[in-house]
Amino acid sequence: MLRVVLYVLAGVFLLAVLGYFTVAAPIADARFNETPPDPPEPVSDTARTVHDDLMVADLHNDLLLWPRDPLRRYDRGHSDVPRLRAGGVGLQVFAAVTQVPTGRSYAGTSADALDQIPFLAAAQRWPLRTWTSRLERALHQARKLHRATAQDERLTLLRTQADLANALMRRAGTPDLLGTLLAVEGLHALEGDAANVDTLVGAGYRMMSLTHLHDNALGGSNTGLEKGGLTEFGEAVLERLNEHHVTIDLAHASEALIDDVLARTEGPVVVSHTGVRATCDSPRNLSDRHIKAIAAQGGVVGVGVWERAVCGDTLAATARAMRHVADLVGVEHVALGTDFDGTVSVPVDAADLPHLTEALLEEGFAPKEIRKIMGDNVVRVLRRTLPVGKPSG
Ligand SMILES: [Zn+2]
Repeated sequence: MLRVVLYVLAGVFLLAVLGYFTVAAPIADARFNETPPDPPEPVSDTARTVHDDLMVADLHNDLLLWPRDPLRRYDRGHSDVPRLRAGGVGLQVFAAVTQVPTGRSYAGTSADALDQIPFLAAAQRWPLRTWTSRLERALHQARKLHRATAQDERLTLLRTQADLANALMRRAGTPDLLGTLLAVEGLHALEGDAANVDTLVGAGYRMMSLTHLHDNALGGSNTGLEKGGLTEFGEAVLERLNEHHVTIDLAHASEALIDDVLARTEGPVVVSHTGVRATCDSPRNLSDRHIKAIAAQGGVVGVGVWERAVCGDTLAATARAMRHVADLVGVEHVALGTDFDGTVSVPVDAADLPHLTEALLEEGFAPKEIRKIMGDNVVRVLRRTLPVGKPSG
């Protein structure tokens, strides 16, 4: 009898282990990145015509964190390369996430809380070194994109201004050409060593935010406990980022950190995915003072489509936030940063981005303004921030 019980227990244990390493990650993916229902109505002919003429640039997407082959179309999550193409996206920034503390909240997220990423990495059977190293997690996510670009010649990684110019030129003849850019969400990925900036740049990373959900060795997060400014280490890293022509992303930065970084950066910066306090008052969102400061340096504010960024579960709420930025500092400083697959609730998936064009038309934007918001403003900034160089092979 005892032997039977032991066999059953061993069987249950084995099944649990097997389940953890096979189905746990896809289940978490489907649950945290719930696919929204198809919109009830197709877009109008006018919106379709305007949208078909766009080159959509999206400043933020977390697809690389999840157990999905970027090239395959899935019925879970918010995006993949086929859905991005269907949505008219021509330039996609993919961000690497390397630490997500348990119990995170806008009120204050502790850096010391249990990190969820090792569990997600293990469940996806990422290499062992990624279970303990945040730098390795970033490098692994970069490799995932490198593999995809190697398999699809109409998918390309942008490392230089020359790459960007080349992609824009190719897109004229190949409308489903998708240029991609690698970003890091929070430089705790450096593991305290500024020299690791070189490693990340070597892996193709060209856009970096200093902080993510918690305060780190560089400075404060807008959802951190202290929400402080730039540290001495942060200052050293910032200098290195500027030397490497890494585009600075102020998403998730505390107010003090935004002030400190802007004071030490001459060129344009981006806020890759955010809302604005004027239409959605939260510590995670940008104040008018900071929107003005970012615009004054030629930067862009990437407005998100997720519910908590815009205080609404419709694309009209996103259009309203974009309208606020446009009225405050000019349409040249408005951009899109969806945060697709960022464990958020969104009204549409990437394939249904034409509905955002419809919402912008309804908000009263002219087609030529929509062109800027949906893509051209991001291209303008990257033309200034990316390193000059020969196209990479
Ligand atoms: Zn984020």
